Amino acid sequence: MITLPFLYMAFVVFLVGAVIGSFLNVCIYRMPLDQSIISPGSRCMSCGTAVRWFDNIPVISWLLLRGRCRGCGAGFSIRYPLVELLNACLFLLLFLRFGLTLPFLVYALLVSALVVVTFIDFDHQIIPDEISLPGIGLGFLVSFFLPEPGWLSSLAGIIVGWGSLALVFYAYLWLTGREGMGGGDAKLLAMLGGFLGLQAVPFIIFTSSLVGSLAGLSIMALQRKGRHLAIPFGPYLVFGAILYIFYGPWLINWYLRLGK
Ligand SMILES: [Zn+2]
Repeated sequence: MITLPFLYMAFVVFLVGAVIGSFLNVCIYRMPLDQSIISPGSRCMSCGTAVRWFDNIPVISWLLLRGRCRGCGAGFSIRYPLVELLNACLFLLLFLRFGLTLPFLVYALLVSALVVVTFIDFDHQIIPDEISLPGIGLGFLVSFFLPEPGWLSSLAGIIVGWGSLALVFYAYLWLTGREGMGGGDAKLLAMLGGFLGLQAVPFIIFTSSLVGSLAGLSIMALQRKGRHLAIPFGPYLVFGAILYIFYGPWLINWYLRLGK
């Protein structure tokens, strides 16, 4: 039943998601440049004016200032409020699915990291080790406290997640002499296997390959360029992981029942 306290909690979760989304924007911009994500505070990239707190309210400030710096009028990308909104929606969906539980907190943290990974991979075609390597350790650590998937499945997920993409990476390198996907993708899948367990790994590989091929083919058709287009694979792995968090076990059961 939907009660007033429930609606209030959902609203608070949404706000917290937006505020954290604002911090994720800082991480997306600064981590690839090896800048500190703590200080200094947000600044206008054109005139260097520090963004004051009342101009730094997620989504709202961007709308009020119509995406412009109060000092010099330089434009701020619409991506900033969109990342905040995206993270807020993901937090809200996780809350509706899991309630205020430990899995909610763990998945909220994971999803936030994945938002950062996605946009950094889009911009720079890299997945920072600063996220994936601690993520592997953290995923394994929290598996001791979560009801699912258990530490053994988490450990197996790390090994198989890393191993399967590393295999693809080296096979492609050996066959073509070129690097197909980055080694960062293997570390990302290891992290996802650590958080979500062994059975998530084939699910994520399958869905990300499917969506990635469809997207890749449409991009190629639109651009009419050669086939050696560098398309980051990280965002598709992230898509598969988020799909798994919400529907994975349900989809796997549905698929297994199809075979009978
Ligand atoms: Zn400015």
